Amino acid sequence: MNDCLFCAIINGDIPSTKVYENEKVFAFRDINPQAPTHILVVPREHIESVDALNAQNGESALSCLLAIPEIAKAEGLTGGYRVISNIGEDGGQTVKHLHFHILGGKKLSESMN
Ligand code: 5GP
Ligand code: ZN
Repeated sequence: MNDCLFCAIINGDIPSTKVYENEKVFAFRDINPQAPTHILVVPREHIESVDALNAQNGESALSCLLAIPEIAKAEGLTGGYRVISNIGEDGGQTVKHLHFHILGGKKLSESMN
């Protein structure tokens, strides 16, 4: 057991609006959307962030990345979209379980910071 919010969502202990899942990946809508489409793509395996990736757990991250174009297509993001992964304090990471934000559904701001 751990007290990770996203592990609890993946396990179904906390409800979410699921948009995609496979053996290694779970994706659901962000509770506080920053764009018309805002989806979080997370590995089922608990990995803290991109900074914790290594040869042993990298397959989970790759599976997330491979799911992203499938999800984007299903969501109709034909004009493009943005993928973000926040890391640590300075990166603004609030949930310490690796996740990729998919943001789209409008022309996004050019600002990266
Ligand atoms: P971070 O700031 O760590 O990159 O992103 C965490 C994201 O998780 C935020 O965009 C936040 O809105 C989202 N979030 C936090 N708690 C919940 C929750 O209980 N359910 C869902 N669906 N999203 C959440
Ligand atoms: Zn977790």
